[in-house]
Amino acid sequence: MCYDVLIVGKGIAGNTLALTLLEKGLRIKVVDHPRSNSPSRLAVGLYSPFTGKRTTRTWLAEKLFPFLEEFYGRIEKKTDSSFLHARSAYRPFLSHLDYNDWTGRGSEENATSFLNPSPDHAHYSPWILNPLGGIEYTHSGYVDTVSYLEAGETLLNQNNCLITDYFNYDDVEETEDGITWKNDHYRYIVFCEGIHAMQNPFFPQIPIVPNKGEVLILHIPDLPLKEIVTQGVFMVQKQAGEFYVGSTYRWKFDQEEPEERGAQEIKEKLGKWLKVSYEQTQLRAGVRPASKDRRPLMGYLNARPRFLIFNGLGTKGVSLAPYWAEELSQLIIHQKDLPEEVDIRRFYLN
Ligand SMILES: Cc1cc2nc3c(=O)[nH]c(=O)nc-3n(C[C@H](O)[C@H](O)[C@H](O)COP(=O)(O)OP(=O)(O)OC[C@H]3O[C@@H](n4cnc5c(N)ncnc54)[C@H](O)[C@@H]3O)c2cc1C
Repeated sequence: MCYDVLIVGKGIAGNTLALTLLEKGLRIKVVDHPRSNSPSRLAVGLYSPFTGKRTTRTWLAEKLFPFLEEFYGRIEKKTDSSFLHARSAYRPFLSHLDYNDWTGRGSEENATSFLNPSPDHAHYSPWILNPLGGIEYTHSGYVDTVSYLEAGETLLNQNNCLITDYFNYDDVEETEDGITWKNDHYRYIVFCEGIHAMQNPFFPQIPIVPNKGEVLILHIPDLPLKEIVTQGVFMVQKQAGEFYVGSTYRWKFDQEEPEERGAQEIKEKLGKWLKVSYEQTQLRAGVRPASKDRRPLMGYLNARPRFLIFNGLGTKGVSLAPYWAEELSQLIIHQKDLPEEVDIRRFYLN
């Protein structure tokens, strides 16, 4: 049989690319060997137009956020499921330095349509320390990534596209106009294996940097906040009384399992602004596929233009995947070049 694209890996990257290509009528297959601790299953799934210690606008926020809301909303409708949860986010100021830094930059940030011009600080005060006020923004929320991956599975199964198997790199053969894998021909193969791409022989010395993250799940029955609160760490209520708090970012680690020091780090930051007590119910950990320059790794190397990659989504898989899957589909269908800042060839000499 002849197909357009074989996708290897069905985390947030592979799932999103598969659904994008299906919507455009391409004939695809997706091969995935699911792992319960893959970052796409463990991710809290937050998306936010402001990030980082200094609360700066997320790279390409104006493009990414309207795009992701439309994309996930469309997949929800198609699968009659619900995984996109829009929630505004509140960030209290904890010091005069913090307050002054924001007001110094405020006019630039205020020009965006993301900020609420007059947050109701009193709404947060019973639970959140905010004597200096804070900022509130919209176009933020979370994607329940497990439900999203399940919705993808439903659509892929309806189209007979999903193969649950381990992909062995030795089984692929390059041809003049594509590749063959297990007796089928594909015009392109796209690798979306997360950190496992570090073993991919077609992208030697790939600049992926594994980044370990931990998340705490807390039981706080009397905290009615629906909004995300973020200051050093974020906190979001997913089920009644069940709050996800995270995350840690560790570049050096010798185990993938959750570590107590991760829990302590999160609790210390949370203790600076959360006024109520809680009970810890779970600590989870996963390893994010980050890139050396914190930008996606996409496209092909000149020696093998039929072998593509979609990786390096790092800490922001949920917000980056829909927009960049669309751009990759334009490369596959119309040979439209990718912007240099995401093109994997930026790291290679030829
Ligand atoms: C603790 C934590 C919290 C996070 N919170 C957020 C958040 O709030 N918001 C956000 O946007 N992002 C968050 N992230 C980051 C997010 O999880 C990643 O950006 C995203 O999951 C990367 O997806 P991926 O598809 O590239 O990789 P993966 O999730 O690793 O998916 C790769 C898939 O490929 C499969 N695979 C690999 N090799 C093979 C093979 N040879 N054969 C078959 N299958 C294979 C794997 O089994 C897996 O299913 C978080 C991550 C962690 C660890």
